[in-house]
Amino acid sequence: MLAKCQCNNCSQPLAFEATDAGAVLNCPNCGAETLLVSPHIPSGRGEKVADGDFYVWLDQEAEGPLQSQQLLELSREFPEMAWSFAGGPDWIPLSDFQRELEKARLKERAEQKIARRKEWTLRKNQVLELERDIAAKMAGVRSQARLQSAAAGENWLGLYDSGLAADQRRAISAKKEADLLFLEQQKANTDEILAQIDKELTQLEADEP
Ligand SMILES: [Zn+2]
Repeated sequence: MLAKCQCNNCSQPLAFEATDAGAVLNCPNCGAETLLVSPHIPSGRGEKVADGDFYVWLDQEAEGPLQSQQLLELSREFPEMAWSFAGGPDWIPLSDFQRELEKARLKERAEQKIARRKEWTLRKNQVLELERDIAAKMAGVRSQARLQSAAAGENWLGLYDSGLAADQRRAISAKKEADLLFLEQQKANTDEILAQIDKELTQLEADEP
């Protein structure tokens, strides 16, 4: 396994076999003697960079945990000091800290965006399903009214009574209109929710990155 450290004299990054840690050699860059150290990076939560989980490599030891603000300040004064984060893959010069931090933040934002898009799309599909239910209920109300209307007017003797048919059809029609009105209100509500979800999705796509 390869390990990395920096020359004690010129901070040239040096790669070496981890088993050679502790050896002294002449730096290929400046020629000065330097000690090969195997820097220990504290274990963390994997690849994710969490603020407050930062470390700097100081006097052959990992110093921390530190906040990103502290590293930013250190990076101005000691750009060659190495830093890493808990669970991080390597020690990197502080001069790269700002860029690396920005990269990690962009990655995190992109992941959040994907998660939010997924969530809104799921909600949208649920509302669309609700709308299909409402449409099916409306069709059911209409077809039931048609059937009832066609069968209207039969009196207790089994004969057609036009006066009775007219009364029954008025009642059937009134019930149908009331049921449809209720369902149309529900549809208006779901339409509004859909419009809001679409607005959220559009806004999400417009967001950086
Ligand atoms: Zn050197």
